[in-house]
Amino acid sequence: MTKQFELVVISGKGGTGKTSVTASLAALAGRSVIADCDVDAADLHLVLSPSLVKSERFIAGRFASLDPAICSKCGKCFDLCRFGAARLEADSHFTLDEAQCEGCGVCVRFCPAKAISFEERDCGESMVSETRFGPMAHAKLKPGGENSGKLVSAVKENARELSKGRGLPLTIIDGPPGVGCPVIASIAGASMALLVAEPSLSAEHDLLRAVSLLAQFRVPGALCVNKWDLNPELTLKIEAAAKEKGIELAGRIRYDSGALQAQAQAKAIVETDAVSAPDIRALWDALKRNKGLREAADASVNGKEH
Ligand code: SF4
Ligand code: SF4
Repeated sequence: MTKQFELVVISGKGGTGKTSVTASLAALAGRSVIADCDVDAADLHLVLSPSLVKSERFIAGRFASLDPAICSKCGKCFDLCRFGAARLEADSHFTLDEAQCEGCGVCVRFCPAKAISFEERDCGESMVSETRFGPMAHAKLKPGGENSGKLVSAVKENARELSKGRGLPLTIIDGPPGVGCPVIASIAGASMALLVAEPSLSAEHDLLRAVSLLAQFRVPGALCVNKWDLNPELTLKIEAAAKEKGIELAGRIRYDSGALQAQAQAKAIVETDAVSAPDIRALWDALKRNKGLREAADASVNGKEH
């Protein structure tokens, strides 16, 4: 049986074209499980036009909710809450701030009037859909919703179930930008990471932070410089810095106004005749030099999908 392979596409910061690259890799793979783990700014669906198969509420923890009609205004919750969620308002009544509440449950337990209930914190939804390149696990985080790291883990869990259940060993993941909790959740257990960088002034610094995260989690990485021709000197500098850390260059993608047109048509760049399409094809070929990725990609396309 072919081993499962998770390719996660990440970037040290947002706006490097990571999602466009992911969509094109999914198109070139032909058939794979696709996961959008960039839950704070999910936009892979804009290109892949998924049709929803199932959706589940994403509950992450609880929060305290006060019923003013029952509250005796004793102030115990105000005294006990260590997170500043309980407030004494100007007109001498008490409130609990949902955003500040850490869900410790202390006020719920000790309110003498039993005026505080413990509510489930609804942070968004995790979804499974179908796309023209394979099933997709994705999510919608509620505005202001926290726990995006946990939501990323839920998306990955769905993707792993799809991979096993459907007999598609290759999973292509659009990871979140940066180096925070959601990125850690997206690279945990991944087989390989593709780092997408742009030749900007902060790129080297952003890239090196992401590289050290990969080293910490023992995930092998490869580099892709997007819009490299906008600053060839900086591109060389980024590539050299990555190489020094053991990250080899897998490909360069030229600047291409056709990338935006492709997105406007809900198409991956490689589905159009955009000038950068051959660069992304070359990138995919270079990535497939990895035996595990190649075997998983072949098995996903040629295998019997359930
Ligand atoms: S502990 Fe209960 S009764 Fe006392 S102020 Fe808080 S909510 Fe009101
Ligand atoms: S549950 Fe804990 S954190 Fe939330 S308001 Fe009550 S005491 Fe504060």
